[in-house]
Amino acid sequence: MLIDADSDGYAAATRPHNSSTRQRPARVAVVSRPEDIASALDEVAALARSSGTPLEIVPQATGHGAGAPVGGGAVLLDTSRLTGVSIDPGSRVAVVGAGATWSEVNAAAERHGLLGLAGSAPSVSVSGYTFGGGIGWLVRRDGLASGSLRAVRYVDGGGRFRTAADDAAEEIDRAAMWAFRGAGGVGIAHTLEFDLFPAADLHAGALLWHADALPELVAAWSSTVGTAGGGVSCSLSVLHVPPVPPFPEELRGRVALHLAIADPDGPVAAAPLLDAMRAAAEPVLDSWGPADAAGLARIHLDPPAAAPAIGDARWLDASTPVIAEALLSTAVAHDTPIVMMEIRHVAGAPVRRAGAVVAPPGDFVYHAVASLDLSPRERIEEGFARARAVWSAADAGSTPGSWAEGSAGVPDALPADVRRRAAAIADAVDPDARIRRSRLLG
Ligand SMILES: Cc1cc2nc3c(=O)[nH]c(=O)nc-3n(C[C@H](O)[C@H](O)[C@H](O)COP(=O)(O)OP(=O)(O)OC[C@H]3O[C@@H](n4cnc5c(N)ncnc54)[C@H](O)[C@@H]3O)c2cc1C
Repeated sequence: MLIDADSDGYAAATRPHNSSTRQRPARVAVVSRPEDIASALDEVAALARSSGTPLEIVPQATGHGAGAPVGGGAVLLDTSRLTGVSIDPGSRVAVVGAGATWSEVNAAAERHGLLGLAGSAPSVSVSGYTFGGGIGWLVRRDGLASGSLRAVRYVDGGGRFRTAADDAAEEIDRAAMWAFRGAGGVGIAHTLEFDLFPAADLHAGALLWHADALPELVAAWSSTVGTAGGGVSCSLSVLHVPPVPPFPEELRGRVALHLAIADPDGPVAAAPLLDAMRAAAEPVLDSWGPADAAGLARIHLDPPAAAPAIGDARWLDASTPVIAEALLSTAVAHDTPIVMMEIRHVAGAPVRRAGAVVAPPGDFVYHAVASLDLSPRERIEEGFARARAVWSAADAGSTPGSWAEGSAGVPDALPADVRRRAAAIADAVDPDARIRRSRLLG
């Protein structure tokens, strides 16, 4: 069903979690069942014919990955009601609607001692996250979320229902499966099928210190992170702490160093890293301990509300610990536009299936976020440039596209040959270019 700007539901659908881009489409297509997607394609075609204007269809679940503006030449296809979640504990497989969020999926999975490969924010949907690669807290043991994807049920540009899978009968569906794994996806997905992983002894936590101790803390992290056991994933960040709960009063409005750390296999393997950092300086907050899925989704301390976020990110190589102090120090000054800068450790992630991006192209990821509410774009770019002058020494050559928040396109997210192959698959699935291409292809 297509609704216009005067209808209930239009305002909610066009308020993306990343509010740095404006969304004012000609109509919103509200879909509650997979069949509604094909009907929406028909209705959009009829509207385009009657108005004499071509209309591009833009799929969106939560808008965490919103980048290019959505204007009067587009219809926003809101998948947020496709939230069904079904878990098969025997085969350790989840079958979920394309609008389901990670909090919904992992709340269901953990009842069976299992988890999907979620990232830091529970409100992110499985779709954009997984199609963009998906760097989560189990990445070093279980790989990128893209590699856990078994099948995607989707609708092509002609409104046909198809299933992307490695063993699909038609070549186009085998190719689509490859593109769904890390190239941002093709067509319009309505159901995803992916692996779940055991997490019987999940431990996780957030540790916060005053940033005054940054040199000692980064030295402790740099000397131990490379030896952390294969289940331990962590991110070390500089965080400009908002003056509100749940942050400890002592740190509100101050600059903090933040370690987010998780291990699905118990507390032992993380102990040397944690001991070294606790010995370097006493944390103001230390929540490390047994955790459930909801607790895991809190360790990165992401703000829950929508924000006009602008992000910068890069895959970095194994030499990152050498530049870590200099890099994080670029985000410490009180007048920096950067509100959060992190280095995530992803080395050793296993590759589970073939796809466009199924292995981290570097051992570490740099990621910085600023807000247009707090700083103008030019100042944000200056902050990113100061960081780039440091991280370029450890550059692994490409950008993790999901973390280029607020960008219309991410031209260096994929190697040129991968981008060409994925773009050709998108063209085969949607030859009349009715569906907006993933920003990872542009
Ligand atoms: C607070 C926060 C924390 C994050 N943490 C992490 C993290 O830990 N690890 C990580 O890897 N990423 C993380 N991200 C980035 C996140 O993975 C991307 O923003 C991702 O695009 C969000 O997916 P979505 O479906 O929720 O967003 P949407 O904006 O709804 O979708 C993003 C894009 O995905 C595609 N898409 C969505 N639905 C469909 C569909 N049904 N069919 C076809 N294509 C579709 C479209 O191209 C769409 O533009 C985080 C982002 C935020 C804002």
